[in-house]
Amino acid sequence: MTETTPNHTQTVNGWAALEANGKITPFVFKRRKTGVDDVTIKIIYCGMCHTDLHHVRNDWGITLYPLVPGHEITGVVTEVGSNVSGFKVGDRVGVGCIAASCLDCDYCRDSQENYCDKVQFTYSGIFWDGSITYGGYSEMLVADKRYVVHIPDSLPMDAAAPLLCAGITVFSPMKQHNMLQAGKRLGVVGLGGLGHVAVKFGKAFGLHVTVISTSPHKEKEAKQRLGADNFLVSTDLKQMQAGARSLDYIIDTVAAKHSLGPILELLKVSGTMVLVGAPDKPVDLPSFPLIFGKRVVAGSLIGGMTETQEMMNLCGEHNITCDIEVVKPDYINEALDRLGRNDVKYRFVIDIAAGKSML
Ligand SMILES: [Zn+2]
Ligand SMILES: [Zn+2]
Repeated sequence: MTETTPNHTQTVNGWAALEANGKITPFVFKRRKTGVDDVTIKIIYCGMCHTDLHHVRNDWGITLYPLVPGHEITGVVTEVGSNVSGFKVGDRVGVGCIAASCLDCDYCRDSQENYCDKVQFTYSGIFWDGSITYGGYSEMLVADKRYVVHIPDSLPMDAAAPLLCAGITVFSPMKQHNMLQAGKRLGVVGLGGLGHVAVKFGKAFGLHVTVISTSPHKEKEAKQRLGADNFLVSTDLKQMQAGARSLDYIIDTVAAKHSLGPILELLKVSGTMVLVGAPDKPVDLPSFPLIFGKRVVAGSLIGGMTETQEMMNLCGEHNITCDIEVVKPDYINEALDRLGRNDVKYRFVIDIAAGKSML
């Protein structure tokens, strides 16, 4: 499609899935030339999110092929359009999940572009010139300035990359629900890519953090490496009962179907639980723990651009990054398989520059 889109004149080397269940292979394609509002970026690192895997496998039936995944992108600016004032050549920048939004609705005007009903994502979306969006498993990206953020100098470009999806996904509800208050008690359900960053945000802002997991063996990791204060095994009835009404907030990152009932009982009266994992089947939500505890269950999807920059700046100040395993592009297929088995601590990040010799 891009071959015939006017102005798509820049040739890019990347990695794509060409069909459902297909492997990721080297893929040469075109991006638009740098427009007046665009920032062109040499990609250095790209995180591998679970959503990438879902799209590669067409789990949700919405994938547009060829698919160049990747929405946790960091790199350096190589060119800016004539309307761009906030970025210059050489700047360290990041791009997350959003490629386009209408810029005119109530949500866009409030920098909640993520909730614009015309939002288009960084890959497998349709840009306003009709082309398919291609993500960060590639050497170069042309992004509208609205969706580009600065990466503070104090943050490493590899471990900062997953902040652009995993980080903002947990930070946005923490901010929106006013969770970032020292001394409050936060529960984090699931200790994966999202959960481990939620623990770090909680500790950086002085909260008491409890990790809730089905895996008892993660206790040591949660407490010693990530600094969690408490750990509850969700299948251990005794532990869960002992934790009843102990938490102000809960962030639930689990993407597998599960019952919210036992977890809701951990909340104090008027406590809030936010779902950021996305089970593909409905979760069990019993009404009694809601009613008898005046509790609230909310959802949240990534975050807006103003909020994403704010998160990046706070991560710079508090030295918050993701724990990562850096891989080379020729390891992408193996990494996706391992991601499917949750065999990673806690995020794969592709060293895009290392792929140069393989193309
Ligand atoms: Zn993601
Ligand atoms: Zn809009």
